Amino acid sequence: MSYIGDIINGSKTLLTGMSITGNYFFKNLFTRKDVITQLYPDNMNELKMFDRFKGEVIMFHDENNQHKCDACTNCEIICPNGSIEIVWERVADPETGKNKKVLLNHIYHLEMCTMCGLCIEVCPADAIGWGQDFHHVTRDRADLTKVLNKPGSSIMPGVKEKK
Ligand code: SF4
Ligand code: SF4
Repeated sequence: MSYIGDIINGSKTLLTGMSITGNYFFKNLFTRKDVITQLYPDNMNELKMFDRFKGEVIMFHDENNQHKCDACTNCEIICPNGSIEIVWERVADPETGKNKKVLLNHIYHLEMCTMCGLCIEVCPADAIGWGQDFHHVTRDRADLTKVLNKPGSSIMPGVKEKK
């Protein structure tokens, strides 16, 4: 194709793109109908991400600060890049006298997580899921290592702890 032809084609493409943008801009200038642009960070307090958004892995807790993690370590084992460490101990059950596994810390390295979701899929208790927070910028890498079970939390009654 000739040099002139390239210029004509390029101009046509440019005008097509500009006409779509212009049409969208003027059509919605006053009504703001169908406008989906987010005024971030001005809207930080109201901003709600889509339900399917994967911001980070979190552990669910109820109003009594109880979770469903029985320290089975499935998530730790399946994570392809070692982003999860389950720290647990065995304690004697006061009722039965038998030892059982108790979660101490569910450690999550957000800085290594690729958001593949395998840990969430493999969790038999649905103890973990996606959180929508995406404000993870920090100057200290250590800030991205999180303990997912909240301080003072315990396992919900009825969730079978591993022996
Ligand atoms: S989402 Fe994937 S990479 Fe991230 S902690 Fe879970 S298994 Fe590991
Ligand atoms: S979060 Fe789920 S998979 Fe991971 S240790 Fe706890 S119960 Fe097991």
